[in-house]
Amino acid sequence: MRHRVPVVIVMSCLVVSGACSGGAATAPTAADAKKFLDEVDRTLTRLSLDANRAGWVGQNFITPDTEAMDARATQALADASSRFAKEAVRFDKLDLPADERRQMTLLKVSLVLATPSDPKEAEELTTLVSAMRGEYGRGKWCRDAAKPDSCLNIDDITKVLATSRTEKDIRAAWEGWHTISPPMKKEYQRFAELSNKGAKELGFADTGAMWRAKYDMAPDAFANELDRLYEQLRPLYLQLHAYVRARLHKKYGDVVPENGPLPAHLLGNIWAQDWSNIYDVVAPANADIGYSLTDILKRRKTSPTDMVKTGEHFFVSLGFASLPKTFWERSLFVRPRDREVVCHASAWDIDNLEDVRIKMCIDQTAEDFTTIHHELGHNFYQRAYDTLPMIFRDSANDGFHEAIGDTIALSVTPEYLVKIGLLDKAPDASHDMGLLMSRALEKVAFIPFGLVIDQWRWKVFSGQVTPDHFNSAWWDLRLKYQGVAPPSVRGEQFFDPGAKYHVPDNTPYMRYFLANVLEFQFHRALSKAAGCTAPLHRCSIYESKTAGAKLNATLSLGLSKPWPDALEAMTGSRQMDASAILDYFKPLQTWLEEQNKGVAVGW
Ligand SMILES: [Zn+2]
Repeated sequence: MRHRVPVVIVMSCLVVSGACSGGAATAPTAADAKKFLDEVDRTLTRLSLDANRAGWVGQNFITPDTEAMDARATQALADASSRFAKEAVRFDKLDLPADERRQMTLLKVSLVLATPSDPKEAEELTTLVSAMRGEYGRGKWCRDAAKPDSCLNIDDITKVLATSRTEKDIRAAWEGWHTISPPMKKEYQRFAELSNKGAKELGFADTGAMWRAKYDMAPDAFANELDRLYEQLRPLYLQLHAYVRARLHKKYGDVVPENGPLPAHLLGNIWAQDWSNIYDVVAPANADIGYSLTDILKRRKTSPTDMVKTGEHFFVSLGFASLPKTFWERSLFVRPRDREVVCHASAWDIDNLEDVRIKMCIDQTAEDFTTIHHELGHNFYQRAYDTLPMIFRDSANDGFHEAIGDTIALSVTPEYLVKIGLLDKAPDASHDMGLLMSRALEKVAFIPFGLVIDQWRWKVFSGQVTPDHFNSAWWDLRLKYQGVAPPSVRGEQFFDPGAKYHVPDNTPYMRYFLANVLEFQFHRALSKAAGCTAPLHRCSIYESKTAGAKLNATLSLGLSKPWPDALEAMTGSRQMDASAILDYFKPLQTWLEEQNKGVAVGW
C-alpha cells in the first residue's frame, strides 16, 4: 500500500469541448502548453503536500475533525487533477516536445474513477462507493444473530481460515464472511453504469478500458500480455495445484476431490490468494529450514526501530543514501496506546522530496520484517525520482512501485541473515524444498488470483458480464485461472466478488499481478549483476553496488519514460517475462513433478 488515488470528479463542462477552456478562441501555442504544465506542476505540488499532511494526521489521530480536514484536502487535489485532465485535451493537436506530450497524456489517463458530468449522478456515484466501502469495513458474520458476542469481523474470520483444521468450521466461517456482500450487488451494478458514463465522457470505451489505458500500450494488447505471462507460469501452477490437492485430500478426505478443482475454503485464506497458512499440511518431509526468523527477532528482542534500520541498511549497502533524520522522527513504528490509528502498513512521501515516512504497527515477526522492506522500497523509489516534474514522480507502471521492496525481500536469504549476524549458519541445500515451498504457497499461488479480480471487473464494465451472471462469471474465472471451486452452490443471490476488499473499494488489482511477475524478473537481473552464481533462491544482492546502480537506473526514471524503457534499464529486456519465476522455483518444480508422478494434473 502506498498512497491514495484521488476520486476524480469530471466537471460538467467537459463534454462541451472548449466551452470551459477559458473562452480563448485562438488555438493554443506551444508556449501556452508550457505555461499550462508549469501551472499543473506548481498546483499539484502544493495540493498534494496539503493532502499528504492532512492524510497523515487523519490516519495517525483519528477524530471527526481530522477526517473532515483529510477529506477536504483530498477533494481539492482531486478537483484540480480533474480540471487538468480536462484542460489537457486543448493541447491534443499541438506538436510538443516528447516529455511535455507525455505529461499531457499522463494527465488524461491518471483517473481511477471518473464521475459523470451530471452533478446528481456524480454525487450518486461517490455515495455508492462510500456506501460499499462502509459495508465492507463494518462487515461481520454472527453465528447467532441474537448474540452480538458471537459476531466475527474480518480479522476473526481470517484467523479461523488460517488456523482451523476442521472443515465444518472453516466452511461456516467462509460462508459467513460471504454474507456481507449480497447487499452490494445492486449498488455495484449502478456503480458500474455510472462510472462507465464518466469514463465515456473522457473518451474511453468504459471504466476497464480507462484502467488499461495507463500501461503505455493499447488496452487490448495489454490484456494479451497478461494472458501470455499466465501461460508461461501455468505449468508450474498446475504442479503446485495437483500436489496441494493430493495433500489436502489426504487430510480432509472426499471434501477434496482427487481430480478437479480445489475447494476455495481450505487453502488458509478467505480468497485462496495466499496458501502460506497451510504450510504445515503440505510441508515436504525433512525439509524444515531449521530456523524461524520470527523466533530470532523475538529472542534477540530486536526493536521495531532496529528492524527498520536493518531494512534501511540493505538499501544503503546497494549505494543509496541513508534515510533523512526526519524519517526517524516522523514515522510511526509502534501502535500508540492512547489513540486510534490506521495500522495498515503504508509508505508516504509527504512533500514529494525528502519528507518520506512509513506508518505501520510493527511486531517482531518475519512477516513484518518483510513488510518493512516492502514499504522502504516505496520510500527509496520516491526519493530516486524526486527531481522530476511532479507528473513523473511515480513508478514506471503501478506494478513497479509494489515490486521494488519485494525484490529486496527476495534477497533476505539465509546467507544474508548470516552476513548481518542474525543467523549462525545457513541451512544446506537439503532444506531448499522447505524454503521454496513456503515461498511458492505465497507467490505462485497468488498469480492466477492476481488476474481474476480485474478480469471479472473488465468484463462487468464492458457489459460482457451482465448482472444476472455476476456471481457465476466470478466463479467461472476462479475455476479457469485458479482451479478452485466454492464449497457450496453459489447462485446469483450471492455477490461473492464484493467479499474482496478491492471490489467495494474500487482499487484496481492488476498491479499486484504485475508486481509478482516483475519482482522475480528484477531479482534475476540484479542477482546476475551482483555476480551471484548460486541458485536464484539463494542469491542476495546485499552489498552489491553494481546491482544497486542498475536498480537506481530504473527508479530514477520515475514515470518519465514508458515502462518498457524502465524495465530495460534494469533487466536489459523490454518485455515482462515470467520465466524468472520458473527459474527461481526450478528445483521445486522438478520435485513436484516427482511427487505428482502418475497423478493427473489440472482440473
Ligand atoms: Zn505497497
